[in-house]
Amino acid sequence: MESLKQKILTEGKVLSDSVIKVDAFLNHQVDPAFMQSIGEEFASRFAELSITKILTLESSGIAPAVMTGLSLGVPVVFARKRKSLTLNEHLYSAEVYSYTKNESNEISISKDYIDSDDVILIIDDILANGQAALGMIDLVEQTSAALKGIGVVIEKGFQDGRGKLYRRGVHVESLATIASLSDGHVTFQNKEDAV
Ligand code: 5GP
Repeated sequence: MESLKQKILTEGKVLSDSVIKVDAFLNHQVDPAFMQSIGEEFASRFAELSITKILTLESSGIAPAVMTGLSLGVPVVFARKRKSLTLNEHLYSAEVYSYTKNESNEISISKDYIDSDDVILIIDDILANGQAALGMIDLVEQTSAALKGIGVVIEKGFQDGRGKLYRRGVHVESLATIASLSDGHVTFQNKEDAV
């Protein structure tokens, strides 16, 4: 998606050979009109799959997921990273390991919002090592709903997320794939191939 690549080049900040900061439009500040175009792009890529519900993970997945839900006309459920007063029982839960923080966190959704006859699309902000996506796949499997694919706004193609999801047989669409962040420069892969 060309406009996204431009946004990454102009507003992203390369923090190291493996980490890019995209707070300006994805992880902190959100440009609603731009995010809507991201939702429309995901909606067109998954349009034929009869999706009934979108699953994402708080907090940075929510904006692209909601815009995709708006375009597809389906509800969005976001998994929570912390249990709360109102979300503490009747849950599906999964572990998500974070390489950057070297710790595991539990993510949860209420059993009320995904049924076994739902057809699920997972949307997330960034695919790196795939742990967040694998945690959400684990949640979907517990619900017995059908998983039709995963859409990520930015994929870091030099990490193994896509490979892990491929090995689980999951279709992945990314809107921009970063091949390298070496020497402070963003290099994109020419084509965002679908698995
Ligand atoms: P994964 O589980 O695929 O390794 O990474 C999942 C999450 O870590 C992403 O949803 C994102 O929030 C965060 N993350 C991983 N790599 C980066 C990065 O280079 N930049 C930013 N901003 N977030 C990242």
